Amino acid sequence: MTNTLAYFLDGKIYINLTNHCTNDCIFCIRKDKNDVCGQEMWLDNENFTSNDVIAQIDSLIDKHQGIKDIVFCGYGEPLLKIDILKEVAGYIRKTYPKIKIRINTNGHANYVYKRNIVPEIKSLVDTISVSLNAENSKEYDRLSQPKFEGAYDEVKKFIKACSDEGIETIASIVEGYNGEHHDIPLCEKIAQENGAALRVREWIENGY
Ligand code: SF4
Repeated sequence: MTNTLAYFLDGKIYINLTNHCTNDCIFCIRKDKNDVCGQEMWLDNENFTSNDVIAQIDSLIDKHQGIKDIVFCGYGEPLLKIDILKEVAGYIRKTYPKIKIRINTNGHANYVYKRNIVPEIKSLVDTISVSLNAENSKEYDRLSQPKFEGAYDEVKKFIKACSDEGIETIASIVEGYNGEHHDIPLCEKIAQENGAALRVREWIENGY
């Protein structure tokens, strides 16, 4: 079966670069489903190149006229594949300059790479959406089950690093999972203190 590296949904192209993640969120749709709108999201292997991703994007753009947005997200953390992400985003910038590029990330990349990667992606991305997920580290650890300690502080630092570079930055939370609710004003304050706008995403069982 062919890997679904890019797929079309709701007028946008979504890019699925990896199934690995440094979180294990209790609300992650990967736990409940194998597909998004019929597109199998588990990759058979991750030994693909940026050209494989680009070929799938080109074919979707040929098929669906008027694409305005491309989003790196998928069933895993896209910045774990930073080299491929940079090559693909660079290609989109050059070939389709009117298309806006967004990355949905868990905000762990600077911790993972032990350097500030934001200047490397600054010119390649219009918007970055970082999963804040909670109003404090205890809640974050419960909900996101990160694979390292101090992840919540890393996420906040990453949000600030993105906004400091002038990237439009959104801090997101998922509201209503399992009937649970967040302290929205506090989340809003944390987002603003770090230069971001808060986006509250209502939990939807199917994830889309
Ligand atoms: S950060 Fe995203 S991909 Fe990773 S476990 Fe959480 S919801 Fe799933």
